Amino acid sequence: MINSKKKEKIIKCDKCGKEFNDFTLYNKHNPICILKYRNENFSQSVTIINFLNNFHKPNISFKKWINNIECKREDLDFILKKENNMTEGIIQIFIKNINLQSEDFIKSFIENKNIIYIFSKKNNWTILKFKNFEEYINILIKKIYLELDSKQEEDKLIYDSIEYSEIRMANSLKVKGGLDPYEEGLKKIFNEIYNIFKIKFKNSFKIKF
Ligand SMILES: [Zn+2]
Repeated sequence: MINSKKKEKIIKCDKCGKEFNDFTLYNKHNPICILKYRNENFSQSVTIINFLNNFHKPNISFKKWINNIECKREDLDFILKKENNMTEGIIQIFIKNINLQSEDFIKSFIENKNIIYIFSKKNNWTILKFKNFEEYINILIKKIYLELDSKQEEDKLIYDSIEYSEIRMANSLKVKGGLDPYEEGLKKIFNEIYNIFKIKFKNSFKIKF
């Protein structure tokens, strides 16, 4: 009887998957495991960056690619649809503009969770920092604003003044409200990009750690 009750409480370490039925043991294991995981992730990052710097020289930097993206009317229309928002719209713009076969200025790996590598304008590979990621996303957001401005110029000619001001208000709220909620939106886009490019490092490059 006592045994079957004990069985219900199994705690799993989210880093290594080891199971514990005792909190004290788990609390001892978990911090050590997290530290070990971080160190491994760090030394893998160094290996990956060295490897990429030696063997991969893309033609353009990630920033240049972002700057070259055009926000078209269809992208804006996608965002303005009732069921979508800015976060979904930016993910969509990413997916549309990336050509997985030829564009290799951005990489991510299964073994290296939630880390994105980009080819920087300084001509080397670097880890995409969240702060810089935010700047890049803001470049896209500004392009969407500009497209909205030109749509509104056109709307002015199509609708009468009452209709126009209603549409303008609704569209402005949705687009100029930006990512809502902001942090969460950024993280969602980041994770989505990580997932799009995630490949198996060991298999794809056949190197030893
Ligand atoms: Zn563990």
